[in-house]
Amino acid sequence: MGRIDRGAVRQWLAAVIAVSAAGLVATPARANFSACMAGLRNAAVEAGISRAVVSRALDIAAPDEKVLRLSKVQPEFKTPIWDYLGFLVDEQRVADGQAMMRRHDATLRAAERRFGVDRHVIAAVWGVETDFGREAGDNFLPHALATLVCEGGRRRDFWRGELFAALKLVDRGDLELNKLYGSWAGAFGQTQFIPSTYQRLAVDFDGDGRRDLVSSVPDALGSTANYLKRAGWREGEPWMIEVKVPRGYKGPTGRRNKAAIAEWSQRGVTRADGRPLAGGGQAGLLLPAGSNGPGFLVFRNFDAIYSYNQAESYALAISHLADRLAGYPPLRTPWPTDDPGLTRAQRLQLQKLLLAKGYDIGEADGKIGPVTRDAIKDVERQLGMPESGRAGSKVYRALGGR
Ligand code: CA
Repeated sequence: MGRIDRGAVRQWLAAVIAVSAAGLVATPARANFSACMAGLRNAAVEAGISRAVVSRALDIAAPDEKVLRLSKVQPEFKTPIWDYLGFLVDEQRVADGQAMMRRHDATLRAAERRFGVDRHVIAAVWGVETDFGREAGDNFLPHALATLVCEGGRRRDFWRGELFAALKLVDRGDLELNKLYGSWAGAFGQTQFIPSTYQRLAVDFDGDGRRDLVSSVPDALGSTANYLKRAGWREGEPWMIEVKVPRGYKGPTGRRNKAAIAEWSQRGVTRADGRPLAGGGQAGLLLPAGSNGPGFLVFRNFDAIYSYNQAESYALAISHLADRLAGYPPLRTPWPTDDPGLTRAQRLQLQKLLLAKGYDIGEADGKIGPVTRDAIKDVERQLGMPESGRAGSKVYRALGGR
């Protein structure tokens, strides 16, 4: 209900803003938006979506300003890999994931049997995408996607395709309109499918006749397994092995630069856990922090995970979380830094410490935004450190964090 209420409030607010804007000045931008929406409604009906769904979903008076803002955000700096993994694979997420795996054991095993995809990887996707369903996004998709079509500038055809795919899901009875809440860019549900992917690959895994990846955990986990299978998952094969490379290693690297395990052995690559490096399959070598940091041999199944979000750091997070959920220990080789990243609990504690020091950063929520970063810069200045605004261990400890 929370999401539905927030959506309703936002739409009401958007309408109020639209009315007051119209009362103050007759903006050409608003007239353009109305014309664009009218065209979009016609096109949706022509694309075969029922008039009833079109009029309920696309009666939109003004663009979603929050979505426009988010679509224009440029990352301030490149997040170090140890920050990214520290946040996504912390002890809390491992514990939560193991609890969720116990709770949904039958479903995960059924998905593993039917699609041949390792259940720890299915659960890891769920954990990284939405923290096991807790953070699925609160943007109303028709509003967000219509805004991107009419005001987003680039990729209009892509956004229109996603908008129509979302409405077709409602039209065919998979979902109610009020389930369409997700990220500003249209990914939604427990494992964050975009609507066209949902349309193509979602499965009804609880057998109720509908594909509901928002409320049905079995549908979401089964669909994720189906996605990975269709992306080329090979049953029974590994996805990633942590390795060490010889000091000053200058040999081949890269996900696509695959070679047989025996060849990696000849190049001096060894398993980080000390066991012999053996087995079949072709793997590439990733050294995300150079040859002094952890190394990873990544297999065809890593590529299937990669395709979910097209980022190697993302695929590393899923792969490592899957290992942790299966009971393997943290990475053996430390990251080559004297200023490691923080867990989510530490981020929250960092904000509480900043508040205690008198920094006006609003409520501590564990999310490091521009206001928190400014406060961190001030602390760094006082410590004589370069001002990065990064939530790292040095600043954390200087503030008294443990
Ligand atoms: Ca279902």
